[in-house]
Amino acid sequence: MQGKIALEEHFAIPETLADSAGVLPDESWRELSARLLDIHDRRLREMDAHGIEMMLLSLNAPAIQGIRDRATAVDLAGRANDYLAEQVARRPDRFQGFAALPLQDPDAATRELVRCVDELGFRGALANGFSETSDGPDMLYYDLPMFRPFWAELERLQVPFYLHPRNPLPQHAQIYAGHPWLLGPTWAFGQETAVHALRLMGSGLFDDHPRLTIIIGHMGEGLPISMWRVDNRNGWTKDMVPPSYPAKQPIAHFFHNNFFITTSGNFRTQSLVDTMLEIGSDRILFSADWPFENIDHAAIWFDHASISEADRRKIGRTNADALFKLNLGVTPEQIAPAVMAA
Ligand code: MN
Repeated sequence: MQGKIALEEHFAIPETLADSAGVLPDESWRELSARLLDIHDRRLREMDAHGIEMMLLSLNAPAIQGIRDRATAVDLAGRANDYLAEQVARRPDRFQGFAALPLQDPDAATRELVRCVDELGFRGALANGFSETSDGPDMLYYDLPMFRPFWAELERLQVPFYLHPRNPLPQHAQIYAGHPWLLGPTWAFGQETAVHALRLMGSGLFDDHPRLTIIIGHMGEGLPISMWRVDNRNGWTKDMVPPSYPAKQPIAHFFHNNFFITTSGNFRTQSLVDTMLEIGSDRILFSADWPFENIDHAAIWFDHASISEADRRKIGRTNADALFKLNLGVTPEQIAPAVMAA
């Protein structure tokens, strides 16, 4: 499919590059670090080769969320956003931006959000899970009351918030002790992000701000297949109903009305079909998760997945075009089925 829009696609600046190093051997790190620092060269060639017209770019992880000093986080977020705005300005037809936000300081994050949307033209914000602090709880989850003014501003601006994964802090990762292979994208990213999303849904946030839009990646971080069970639990027991959370609706109500899901890093038709059955093709968006996943792996899978061409067009392009108000439209070439072009 030509004209795809991809939106969980990352870059780094020198100050955040090492956050992505992990435990990669030298050869892989050379490749990954070059991919992260590049925007206009290899990245554009990959996009051209695999029918991606536009990427919405975001800073790598955990970056700003992992900076314990508030002033440092505020300063670096501002500089990263300025850099991204310069890159987008060079090719606004191919790149748009997500704001990195210093949510350790909710007031500063709100000011930076407004600056990024109103002055830099960014299409939303992306946060890498909870934010760390040096002088309070070491993990700030965004269902906490201190973030309500931030959410009110996000709703007023009508831009989406991408809740992107990060690893648990070492002191809270006992469940993975002795099994480091489970950290990162294998399992811990999804577990961490799914719980954070459930906290938002159960907190009553979306009762108070029903027009908020949250995006989660990786085909929903495991939530689509679990959504019925979350609300049903042991349905025969009277004492479990109603559930004891502040929100006024079943969890699935918020999942269906306030969330979008991307295909980032989860290129599996069975999982896509399950997600379509749970949340509908109107709320699914194509993404690759470059540079941590290959664009060809994402695009070749998606272009040939056994779904209708109408759904492919929505997930690949028109849903994102509408959600981010990109006004790209659809050309006849993009309407033609991928099989016709083959
Ligand atoms: Mn990612």
